[in-house]
Amino acid sequence: MRIDILTIFPGMLEAPFEHSIIKRAKEKGLAEIHLHDIREYANNKHRRVDDYPYGGGSGMVMMIQPIADCIEQLKSQRDYDEIIFTTPDGEVFNQNKANYLSTLTNIMMLCGHYKGIDERIRENYITREISIGDYVLSGGELATAVITDSIVRLLPGVLGDETSALSDSFQNSLLSPPVYTRPYDYKGLKVPNILLSGDDKKIDDWRFQKSLERTRLRRPDLFDEE
Ligand code: SAH
Repeated sequence: MRIDILTIFPGMLEAPFEHSIIKRAKEKGLAEIHLHDIREYANNKHRRVDDYPYGGGSGMVMMIQPIADCIEQLKSQRDYDEIIFTTPDGEVFNQNKANYLSTLTNIMMLCGHYKGIDERIRENYITREISIGDYVLSGGELATAVITDSIVRLLPGVLGDETSALSDSFQNSLLSPPVYTRPYDYKGLKVPNILLSGDDKKIDDWRFQKSLERTRLRRPDLFDEE
């Protein structure tokens, strides 16, 4: 999978992809992530990427020209399955959407800033608009990092244990059961004995019950999904 990210602050996105699972995915050749500095596409003297909003009001708006030229150039090199804009008024991201995006080959993601981007980009180039939740960030970079992380870890071969992603929260509309590791007894705090029983069937049943319990308590709304 190839992900192209368009941003005016590429430095904000370097560190998140240089560690742990995403780093490994890149090293294994399973994911390619390319950062594009929108400013480099600005065809004005001072490489301006924003301007005052028509009609007045506070805040700046990202200009159409640098973004359009960057998108056009990338589109001339390959076909994109989705061109995503991260925005608080987009569809709210969830695991189903991460699953879908992880099946694609080429994804472009655009990070907004200030008041947002010129609407004509959204109308003419963007195929999908995604929000990572009902709150407002100062820019789309962190949202893009969140979406990228959630997609890349799902690519076949990225996680060591192939079944690991499938047993995560939300994959079956349930939250994950609690997990424990050594030591068995930490200052009197013990691990549930069933997990040491060696009886896989009983352990699976216990985990399923815990998942149900936890979902019922914390996220009963998940039972209504699907
Ligand atoms: N004026 C806009 C907010 C702009 S915030 C509004 O009220 O809708 C600046 C940029 O941050 C946005 O263009 C978007 O790219 C990003 N952003 C902010 N909150 C976000 C969220 N919840 N999900 C995804 N992107 C977000």
